[in-house]
Amino acid sequence: GTPTTSLEVERAEARTAHNYHPLPVVLAHGEGAWMTDVDGKRFLDLLAGYSALNFGHSHPRLLATAHAQLDKLTLTSRAFIHDEFADFCAALGDLCGKELVLPMNTGAEAVETAIKVSRKWGYEVKGVPADQARIVVATGNFHGRTTTIVGFSDDPDARDGFGPFAPGFDMVQYGDLAALEAAITPDTVAVLIEPIQGEGGVIIPPEGYLRDVREICTRENVLFAADEIQAGLGRTGRTFACDHEGVVPDLYILGKALGGGIVPVSAVVGNRDVLGVLKPGQHGSTFGGNPLACAVGHEVVQMLATGELQDRATELGEILRERLAALVGNGVVSFRTRGLWAGVDIDPAIGTGRQVCERLMERGVLAKDTHGSTIRLAPPLVISEEDLHWGLDQLAAVLS
Ligand code: PLP
Repeated sequence: GTPTTSLEVERAEARTAHNYHPLPVVLAHGEGAWMTDVDGKRFLDLLAGYSALNFGHSHPRLLATAHAQLDKLTLTSRAFIHDEFADFCAALGDLCGKELVLPMNTGAEAVETAIKVSRKWGYEVKGVPADQARIVVATGNFHGRTTTIVGFSDDPDARDGFGPFAPGFDMVQYGDLAALEAAITPDTVAVLIEPIQGEGGVIIPPEGYLRDVREICTRENVLFAADEIQAGLGRTGRTFACDHEGVVPDLYILGKALGGGIVPVSAVVGNRDVLGVLKPGQHGSTFGGNPLACAVGHEVVQMLATGELQDRATELGEILRERLAALVGNGVVSFRTRGLWAGVDIDPAIGTGRQVCERLMERGVLAKDTHGSTIRLAPPLVISEEDLHWGLDQLAAVLS
């Protein structure tokens, strides 16, 4: 790298825990689908903050909202009500077709919230004996990094060395309905799954899986908690990944793009018969639902409500799919797409996913590998057709 980049890489490495292995790029500016590093070099962002930047960097509408709110009010705590709160909750609830919204900050917190709500619902509504509640989860899941959540991961990197873990989770093969049905006991309170597994490599379950999960949950009196943190809010060409099968979960778990790439905003969204089990003092967050978060989150919801961005993800997703199909046998072993989102399995003979991402970086494209030989592509939904083609040209060049 150039002097400033290498110096900043060194300084960052020297003073942080090494819980990440970032590409050696030091970014200083972002606009739309493009970022500029400290040396003035431009990069096309094909990761979009793991879908947190669905609207791209520095979206003018989101920035204007954030700037205006910064000058008015930023934090009250939930000890008081502020004037951005009701609008955000109503708009997000409407977007989800649900009655109530419980705002938090990060994705992991929202998942933890859904776990707590599901258990409480189990004890108070379903009648599960105290401390016996069980939650069914899937192999290959990624729901965040808290001790409870990593305790039901099957990824050794996520789990090993962090026990002891919370009990009460049963893991079944993702996509296997029979296994899911068999795992449900009278004490099961929820099925917690990602409708598409993002970190897992954009793994799409078999056609009809989500519909059948919904049906089983309804029949067995179990909550369906859909972790749409990475898949939801436009990425797949629909507002929610569950929409592709016409499925409405009991709990939507949302994060990432909800904060417009500006602030951490997450939420659990559900009806009164479920979220209503929480009473004052039983759950909370100092920053959850703060005025800045609500103002930005409300703007995000309004932008999604028109459906324009979802349509764009569908249209650009067609290009993505066609271009990747042409690479199969030319460095790509297989790939999966839904909307503007792809998991691309690289021929190991070409190099590791990491090496491919390093070569992409040299060509001015930023992407991220997952699980060794898979590269995840999740461009901002505002990317131009031309830029998307250019980015995929670079991928083709790196793989040839
Ligand atoms: N759930 C899913 C499906 C995710 O993809 C992620 C993050 O990648 C999380 C939860 C955790 O979100 P956060 O990193 O904001 O805690």
